[in-house]
Amino acid sequence: GFKCGIVGLPNVGKSTLFNALTQTAAAQAANYPFCTIEPNVGDVAVPDPRLDTLASIAGSGQIIPTRLTFVDIAGLVRGASRGEGLGNQFLANIRECDAIAHVVRCFEDSDVTHVEGKLAPISDIDTIETELMLADLDSLEKRAAALEKKAKGGDKEAKELLDLMTRALVLLRDGKPARLVDVKPEEEKTFRMLGLLSSKPVLYVCNVEEASAKEGNALSAEVFARAAEEGAKAVVVSAKIESEIAVLPAEDQKDYLEAIDLEEPGLNRIIRTGYELLKLVTYFTVGPKEARAWTITAGTKAPGAAGVIHSDFEKGFIRAETIAYDDYVKGKGEAGARDAGRLRLEGKEYVVADGDVLHFRFAN
Ligand code: GDP
Repeated sequence: GFKCGIVGLPNVGKSTLFNALTQTAAAQAANYPFCTIEPNVGDVAVPDPRLDTLASIAGSGQIIPTRLTFVDIAGLVRGASRGEGLGNQFLANIRECDAIAHVVRCFEDSDVTHVEGKLAPISDIDTIETELMLADLDSLEKRAAALEKKAKGGDKEAKELLDLMTRALVLLRDGKPARLVDVKPEEEKTFRMLGLLSSKPVLYVCNVEEASAKEGNALSAEVFARAAEEGAKAVVVSAKIESEIAVLPAEDQKDYLEAIDLEEPGLNRIIRTGYELLKLVTYFTVGPKEARAWTITAGTKAPGAAGVIHSDFEKGFIRAETIAYDDYVKGKGEAGARDAGRLRLEGKEYVVADGDVLHFRFAN
């Protein structure tokens, strides 16, 4: 599954938000199997009203949402890349994540100490980003030194890798994140394998005071501008509100949200924006037994999508019976959609679209 690391300076509301996210997910998913794997790792059901609609049309006995894993990565402080705090351990945790949710303090509260002494989201962002870049610089310099000999000896693979690493190093030495490296399509896999922290997609989570939960405030506006500059994404939440919502049963959550004029919990917005950031799409498998959502990266072809369910589905893939979500709903189910001529037989080259209802045919 996809993993999102929650980072930020101390006292910005990471733990409050993490606990709220996992509890809200548990309440929303009252009927779904749910687990918190470890105290700092939460497996969150991705809220998707389409799945409920499909299940009710098909009379599915069980609803199984797709999941996103959140990891609360505490302890990232100035100096982490030099091993300050519990530095290296935390950097290693980030390395395993597909994306970073960077919580930024945008709320005033004289009772909550600001670790840097003043409220300054952009400089807080720079502090964290600098640690990530320094860690990358350090790891790349070490690895590049070892590769140089091989590259000089005529090892073609080593030479190509070194070339990619050198382009990243040039940026990092200039104080720029590795996400700005111009990666050729054929280098993408290798680049990902380098596991550079500053190359991970970032979602800024602006933690604002309750009154600004809907529109944000002047500080969150600064963060949004910064996100736009660097091709990142940003959302506004109030961790305090989220933690109050989290302890309510699902039906009361709606009333509470209405009372404060919010359309949905911050969790939903974070997940949705996270999906956009990671270019993820959802497809569905629907039957009388269960309706289930699955996550793939945009651009995945039918066999790869089948492989998310089981590797045998991918190996023996023959075709995918495909109905677009809207057609499934209009046809009031598979039979109706088929009668309306909306069931397509798609082959190996078909790129699965968001919302597709799929039925895989495969040979063992
Ligand atoms: P972390 O160190 O980033 O994990 O921060 P915590 O979640 O432990 O929060 C640090 C302190 O800030 C706690 O006392 C929280 O109650 C408080 N806090 C967190 N979010 C908010 C918020 O949205 N508003 C206010 N006023 N306080 C908050």
